[in-house]
Amino acid sequence: MANTTIQHLMNRLRKVAARDLIAIESFVAELVQTNAISVALERRVEKTDSCPICGEKRIQKWGKSNAGTQRFKCRDCGKTFGATNGTAFYRLRRRALWTRYLGLKGQHISLRDLQEKHGFKQSLSTLHRWRHRFLASLAKEPGDKLAGLIEADEKFFRTSFKGSRGWRDGNAPQQRKPRKRGGASQRGLGQEQVPTLTAIDRSGVIRQVRLPDLKWLTIAGELKSWVEPESVICSDGNLAYKTATIQSGCEHIVAKGRQGHNAAGLSIGRIDAYHRDVENLINRRCMGVSTRYLMNYFGWARRMKQHKPFGNECLWKCYCPNVSSDNLLFPASH
Ligand SMILES: [Zn+2]
Repeated sequence: MANTTIQHLMNRLRKVAARDLIAIESFVAELVQTNAISVALERRVEKTDSCPICGEKRIQKWGKSNAGTQRFKCRDCGKTFGATNGTAFYRLRRRALWTRYLGLKGQHISLRDLQEKHGFKQSLSTLHRWRHRFLASLAKEPGDKLAGLIEADEKFFRTSFKGSRGWRDGNAPQQRKPRKRGGASQRGLGQEQVPTLTAIDRSGVIRQVRLPDLKWLTIAGELKSWVEPESVICSDGNLAYKTATIQSGCEHIVAKGRQGHNAAGLSIGRIDAYHRDVENLINRRCMGVSTRYLMNYFGWARRMKQHKPFGNECLWKCYCPNVSSDNLLFPASH
């Protein structure tokens, strides 16, 4: 834009009422954000510099889509693709709004409040889809390896079919009546319990997974893929932990009782505390979540425990893992 046009625009802004200025400010902030995302997505393609379809490294810019997304064309296979290909922004409208949504996510604002108090005009089902589109990527994020002193334990969650239409459509899940949401789980594995495995180390790395069953081979298989050799695993006396420890070249210490310590002064208190946090998120704050989304909520709980905010940095890590966001100036989410 020519300098004179910009000057003209600014002069006109001087005459705008304070109230309107605030509206303009948020409009401009949203534009800046959208633009920053577009630039970042474009750079991501330029950096990988290869065609997502055939893998050849001969791509060229090929105009912009109506939404303003840079498009590319492969000179080998002749296919065109947009900068959002393979990212969470693919076919997502109003990108800036989504980063704002993420910014609010850490504050745990209910979807209904997003509509009523934060001006989101999307339907509840759209907002719900956004939540899981994002959380699913977070849950898939490969966690760091656990090292040093590691606590491990299983935890049961009640199965839930929250949101299921089975009851309405005469096809009740598990052939049972609907029941009140949330609720504490009891130990033992029935059809109404989902087993999960958690491990946590002193540096704050947390791994948690939903298990298909409670066989010791299953537990050992998961756990040994998480730990660095020569670590110390502290758990109950389950054979699974002993096996995982041997197979991964670690040392095993049996924690004594729920409250007590053993001779080495070790307990699994950290993991108990973490499980209470997860339960709090799932059963109280979210008032029960459907079992099919359980892993997504584990990702959420983990992020909160590690005191990492939701926001742009998080977005990049999940969706553009190979591109650093350092050199991109994002305005803070507001
Ligand atoms: Zn190609």
